[in-house]
Amino acid sequence: MNSIYSYTRDDLINYFLNINEKKFKADIVFDWLYKKRVSSIESMTNLSKKVISKLEEDMILDNINIIKKDVGTDVVKYLFELTDKEKIEAVVMYHDYGTSLCISTEVGCNMSCAFCESGRLKKRRNLSVNEMVLQILEIEKDIKKRISHIVLMGIGEPFDNYDNVIKFINIINDSKGIDIGARHITISTCGIVPKIYEFTELKTQVNLAISLHAPNNELRNRLMPINKVYPLNELMKAIKKYIEVTNRRVTFEYIMLDDINDTNECAMELCELLKGLNCYVNLIPYNETNNIGFKRSKSVKIDKFYDILKKNNISVTVRREFGGLVSAACGQLRSRV
Ligand code: SAH
Repeated sequence: MNSIYSYTRDDLINYFLNINEKKFKADIVFDWLYKKRVSSIESMTNLSKKVISKLEEDMILDNINIIKKDVGTDVVKYLFELTDKEKIEAVVMYHDYGTSLCISTEVGCNMSCAFCESGRLKKRRNLSVNEMVLQILEIEKDIKKRISHIVLMGIGEPFDNYDNVIKFINIINDSKGIDIGARHITISTCGIVPKIYEFTELKTQVNLAISLHAPNNELRNRLMPINKVYPLNELMKAIKKYIEVTNRRVTFEYIMLDDINDTNECAMELCELLKGLNCYVNLIPYNETNNIGFKRSKSVKIDKFYDILKKNNISVTVRREFGGLVSAACGQLRSRV
């Protein structure tokens, strides 16, 4: 049966119109779900008995269970068990500008990036819309606080589960839903080019981040197999189009791997690749994992790389580190379950 948390407000409007009910009932249901946060359909007391039983017949109001919580400084990692016993993780980060939540979009991941722990478990399935929405609801309930920012940077490739991800964003961005501003939501992709074009056409204010990690095809092919399907020139073309249509700045994520992609030559090549583009680069000190041989770049190398980009007028930051000790950092999710 469909979860009630999988319906956008438009879906609910259609649902009510189909059963000859007034469409404003969709707003009422949203209010109970996302403002009042009830835990059963029968608690929606301003709906008629008839509507309640119809809803109960057609939908379930489900939940996902927190089965483990690792608390670090300014970071908490949650392990969830889904109804079919699959497990996913989400990470809360407390920043000075607010509270952000990094959510998973798939069980496992098929992208097989050489450096990433999450991708060692092959994709088992997409997450459904409700399973993404519920990561937010359960965690807000647990921390008794509103999440201000959402990043789709947990386990999975969001553009490999495109339709569900877009519906999910619709629900959380809806002012009558969870009401998280589009500019506070970031989708990160390894570069599934056709979906970047589709996303561009939505013309939303949702932020787009690209996991780049290498400035040329030879190196990127080695690190990210997706590059063999959508090589850099195609990726860059899609990104240029995105910037042209949406007028929004793109973030490039670049993990710093010792002696692999952190040389001066790589930095120069990256400057050349990004020259004149409305973008900024987020350098991510690599989080080493037990199972993969890559090492984190030395901090002098990171500083040097940063300087070269700066000198070439590329906006650049070094990502603040979260979650190392509780294995909640980028690329470490699911590595200890
Ligand atoms: N599949 C999407 C969403 C995952 S985002 C994507 O590729 O963008 C997670 C980010 O962390 C990606 O940029 C990923 O490349 C990066 N990452 C993976 N393993 C990492 C590690 N061990 N240390 C730091 N970053 C890592």
